[in-house]
Amino acid sequence: MSGLNLAQLQAVHATSQPCLVLAGAGSGKTRVITHKIAHLIDKGLPPAGIAAITFTNKAAAEMRERAGSLIGKRAREVLVCTFHALGVRLLRENGQALGLKPQFSILDSADVASILKDCAGGTADLATARQWQWGISALKNQGLTANQALAQAQDDGARTLAALMLRYEERLAAYQSVDFDDLIGLPLRLLREHGTVREKWQRQLAHVLVDEYQDTNATQYELLKLLVGERARFTAVGDDDQSIYGWRGATLENLRRLPLDFPALKVIKLEQNYRSTSAILRAANHVIAPNPKLFPKTLFSELGEGEPVRVQQCDHEEHEAERAVARIQSLRASRNPPPAWKDFAILYRANHQAKPLEKALRQAAIPYKVSGGTSFFERAEIRDLCAWFRLWANNDDDPAFLRAVTTPRRGIGHTTLARLGEFASQHKSSLFGALFSPMLAAVLPRKALDGLAEFGRGVNDMEYRARRTLGAGAARAFLADWLAEIGYERHLRDTEDSDKVASARWNNVLEFCDWMAQRAGGQIADAAGTTAATEERSLLDVARNIALLSTISEREQEQDVVTLSTLHAAKGLEWPHVLLAGVTEGMLPFKPGGDDGADDSAATARLEEERRLMYVGITRAQRTLVVSWSKRRKKGREMVACQPSRFIAEMQLDAATSREDPREKLRQLRAEFARKAGAPAA
Ligand code: ATP
Ligand code: MG
Repeated sequence: MSGLNLAQLQAVHATSQPCLVLAGAGSGKTRVITHKIAHLIDKGLPPAGIAAITFTNKAAAEMRERAGSLIGKRAREVLVCTFHALGVRLLRENGQALGLKPQFSILDSADVASILKDCAGGTADLATARQWQWGISALKNQGLTANQALAQAQDDGARTLAALMLRYEERLAAYQSVDFDDLIGLPLRLLREHGTVREKWQRQLAHVLVDEYQDTNATQYELLKLLVGERARFTAVGDDDQSIYGWRGATLENLRRLPLDFPALKVIKLEQNYRSTSAILRAANHVIAPNPKLFPKTLFSELGEGEPVRVQQCDHEEHEAERAVARIQSLRASRNPPPAWKDFAILYRANHQAKPLEKALRQAAIPYKVSGGTSFFERAEIRDLCAWFRLWANNDDDPAFLRAVTTPRRGIGHTTLARLGEFASQHKSSLFGALFSPMLAAVLPRKALDGLAEFGRGVNDMEYRARRTLGAGAARAFLADWLAEIGYERHLRDTEDSDKVASARWNNVLEFCDWMAQRAGGQIADAAGTTAATEERSLLDVARNIALLSTISEREQEQDVVTLSTLHAAKGLEWPHVLLAGVTEGMLPFKPGGDDGADDSAATARLEEERRLMYVGITRAQRTLVVSWSKRRKKGREMVACQPSRFIAEMQLDAATSREDPREKLRQLRAEFARKAGAPAA
């Protein structure tokens, strides 16, 4: 247990009572969790009885790795995952009590939108469908079923939404599918209503740890309470100043209620920040100061004053991007040893702000990755493949069926599918189930029947083989065969106008299949040629849980590239050098269009959350921090004039030192010359 201070040690050793670690950014909260996992195992707890809940899959992968380096192989059995993944686990094991088959599908947001459109008669546009989706999600996060929502609806709008939700729930049950909110809501119902299941899990879980507790929502808190039961052996760590998911239903009420719901709660505060220099920490403390305090906190750093935080004023966004690139190059050229690419992060408020930055980085040939943006899994070609996988795993998944049967096209037309749909609903079966009914011959012509039967046999055959395909090597071969069999590459070339786009999509497909294969385990060699052995899984097993994964590479952290990320996705992470870009009024704090009519308290709450977002951004930096803004930015097609964010003034920087260092400019020029001359920079 070296590398922990006294308060951290206290938190690690508090194993027989509920424990809350409440502390500011960079104070070692996440470190407490990893060390506590190791300590619990050393104390003799079975690793499989420990669950550590993180905010993202990526954070889970990192924690598993860290715990592994502390205690070795035993860490593998610890359940390290997100609340949603834990929900999947509960439902796959015990969901039958709720009428859910173990092979249920998990719908992503695009599936949900299209099902809702369908439920409403198919005429709604995407924006409307998204609004319903948010509305239903909010109802589910309050723990309401459609019937309950209907009963308490106050106006026509609420009644319409609840009625739609009722139809939506029926569809999901018929498809044996769940959405993301169900991954928390259904396990909650399961534990509430089924005592034996609840007791089983409470017995099995000897200790539950939760990172980023401030961003849990009400249903997640209820789920946590049922998981830990009366014994209440859990450790939650969090920071009320970093609560940034209020817009998605997270509530600080969970922090406030914890001491009331668990009177034995041991509250531990950490005060030393091990991440940032004093200059950076001071700016952070100043920014967060105006927010009302749930718990008073102090935070100090012993890493020295460090370099002043700088503010860069730019003309427009392209200019800002160039300056960011120049800053990175200059730091690389002037420091000894030079920082690696992965030591840099550029953070911003909204996804679209990445674009000019990407362009500038590409032009300078600087390797980078964008995290927190459009996920790989939202691309059409990947969603095509996922539809097939889902259909293997769950034959009743009608949306997956419709996508797979028409991609690539196999001569099965809309009329055939419409008749099949009618037949299926008359016989209360799924589309796939209807394929094999002898009575189908009465409603469809021979040719259509043959096409459908062939498709059905193909899927069954594939499912059979996928179940028996174990390990990465076999999985890779299987997927290559399968792609050839369904003619997916030809399909891409036929449907894409440009060869270049078709090739890019095909490469995505190959990358995706390779990644799927890797997840089937066995002997795996990485790019550096080192091999590792992991437990073999069947390809079908991999396919089942695919919707849960939002990043293609759980180990992307290790690549030597500059990170571009939204502030939301940067939570919990740290980099030696951080640039916050686009820090203007309107962007950060973000001001949505049509906000003027909002009532005061809602506007205040929103501003406070934006301020916490700025606090999160500043506290990602270890050694240097630059905050930049531009005088003009694109808004739609127009250029609008911008003011620096009020948060820049709130940082209370010293005007004399916060402006760009002229020596830096010089170094920058020198680095540029050196590069052009082909000589290494001095
Ligand atoms: P955040 O609020 O951003 O999630 P955190 O409180 O979880 O931050 P960590 O990420 O656990 O903080 O720790 C921040 C940094 O400080 C990490 O690099 C970690 O290794 C280091 N650190 C934490 N505790 C100690 C310690 N006792 N001694 C030395 N370094 C420490
Ligand atoms: Mg943390």
